[in-house]
Amino acid sequence: MSEFAVQYQIMPIHPEAHLFRVSCVINEPDPAGQRLSMPAWIPGSYMIRDFAKNIISLMAKVGNQPLELKKLDKSTWQCAPCTGPITLTYEIYAWDLSVRTAHLDTRHAYFNGTSVFLRALGHEDKRCSIDIQPPTGDNYANWRIATAMSQLKAERYGFGLYQAENYDELVDHPVEMGTFALATFTVSGIPHDIVITGQHRADMKRLCDDLEKICNTHIALFGEFPAIKRYVFLVMVVGDGYGGLEHRASTSLLCSRNDLPLEGEDAVTDNYRTFLGLCSHEYFHTWNVKRIKPAAFTPYDLSRETHTEQLWAFEGITSYYDDLALVRSGIIEPASYLELLGQTITRVWRGQGRFKQSVAASSFDTWTKFYKQDESAPNTIVSYYTKGSLIALALDLTIQQASNNQKSLDDLMRLLWVKYGEPGKGLAEKEIEKLLSQFTDQDLTDFFANYLYGTQDLPLDKLLKTVGIDFHLRAASSVDDKGGKPADNSNSKPLITLGARVAADPAGALLTHVFDNGPAQRAGLAAGDIVVALDGIRASKDNLEKSINSYQINDEVTIHAFRRDELYKFSLVLTEAPLDTCYLEISDSVDTQQITARQHWLHQAQYQPS
Ligand SMILES: [Zn+2]
Repeated sequence: MSEFAVQYQIMPIHPEAHLFRVSCVINEPDPAGQRLSMPAWIPGSYMIRDFAKNIISLMAKVGNQPLELKKLDKSTWQCAPCTGPITLTYEIYAWDLSVRTAHLDTRHAYFNGTSVFLRALGHEDKRCSIDIQPPTGDNYANWRIATAMSQLKAERYGFGLYQAENYDELVDHPVEMGTFALATFTVSGIPHDIVITGQHRADMKRLCDDLEKICNTHIALFGEFPAIKRYVFLVMVVGDGYGGLEHRASTSLLCSRNDLPLEGEDAVTDNYRTFLGLCSHEYFHTWNVKRIKPAAFTPYDLSRETHTEQLWAFEGITSYYDDLALVRSGIIEPASYLELLGQTITRVWRGQGRFKQSVAASSFDTWTKFYKQDESAPNTIVSYYTKGSLIALALDLTIQQASNNQKSLDDLMRLLWVKYGEPGKGLAEKEIEKLLSQFTDQDLTDFFANYLYGTQDLPLDKLLKTVGIDFHLRAASSVDDKGGKPADNSNSKPLITLGARVAADPAGALLTHVFDNGPAQRAGLAAGDIVVALDGIRASKDNLEKSINSYQINDEVTIHAFRRDELYKFSLVLTEAPLDTCYLEISDSVDTQQITARQHWLHQAQYQPS
């Protein structure tokens, strides 16, 4: 009998048809009828995806004899009672290029375990082996494997036998196969691989140098790296894309080709800064959410939605530290960090939904709201990522001020690691809030009531003043203005807005979102409408903003738009753009206390204000 309770084998059987063949041997099946199920979701991406839908032709056998299988619900099967080892075989359709699922063609294969491996109920906690095989044929002779999964009988980066302690670990090691670019650097004695799939000309050496700085910054914050043997950044490069998913010893990332630095370049472009922020975010998750977890996730119930109000702490705090680590590690300057922070504040301040949904509610309802956003999202929901990161900022500055720079949110993260993450103890709901109150020796009840459970704006103006930063709000200067910088002064006339987000459409200008109480909504325009004319002149995404700004505030204009195939006529009174765009500046008039506090916050011991 094998030392492994469940033995899996996976092979890209037909790359042109995007099919993996998977087999699964259960050595000691439940004699009453072994049950099997596929996860409905993947940890870190809080949406029901029903991965069982991609299973094709599932069959069970005992020895050479077919075994009857009964489907119990959308994701669960039950075998007929039997005693011997059961072998299940099935194919998986893999044609979703995202970090959450599986993708296979003649150039590469990628899978998450949640998309391909059946879970043998009752055997989840037992060790399993995974035989990973390449596709057959000369075309695949140069393929190799990148994963943080433990090798059992396989060369490093080679095909063969791998192992996992349990099902939870099995599905937490995504696997990439193909002819990827690979570079390795070492942090705290642990090899870190960066693996890039897709066509690119990235400067691998620079990527390693910058990632090493970021990894070291996070390790310094937590005091130690979790006990793992290797960490892997799996990167898929596409023309235009963005996404990341955290795992216990790796991360899967999707980025745009332009996000990666080319050889000979040394500036940190906005795109590269975005990419490094994403890497930083997922690496911080190695502690925060992969080990320091909500009790609701220990263990994960992958069969249904799992609700927690705590995602502000796991995604918000992580989002706070992702960009902060870029300045703390010296990759970007403080002014560049303040630009990023100003953009985050702008994203929060532009959504009227922040007055309707609390961050705690956004976390709880992420399954049906944040992950299923429609055209109403800016008016109806708030992001626990962005507003959560501002809660983290506010807490950090509050702790630093109250302790005279002796403590910071970093100390809370270390405490969470030592008391919860390292020993594997889940955090009950509201436990972080209690810890913070004890830790700061302050009653933070009102803080959480106002900003986490309530819908008030955080007092960032006041808090940023303690570190000598001025908080400014202005009107957007164009539809593409993301904030973070002072207005472009070439146009002194206040911007007039439509109060809608606009996308290009062959027929005109498509309104993708119509903001509450804006001119477009007041006139009766709706998301999905295609504006075809403004005062009788043909409209497009490119000319709409310019045309509107040739009028004066309070002018009345006529807009023709198609809703479905019906032409509507609207009368719209133009108003000034709201003050929803933030930028931050290092204050001219600061005292030594503020300078010290700012240096403490940004870890810029040498930094002096300009
Ligand atoms: Zn995250």
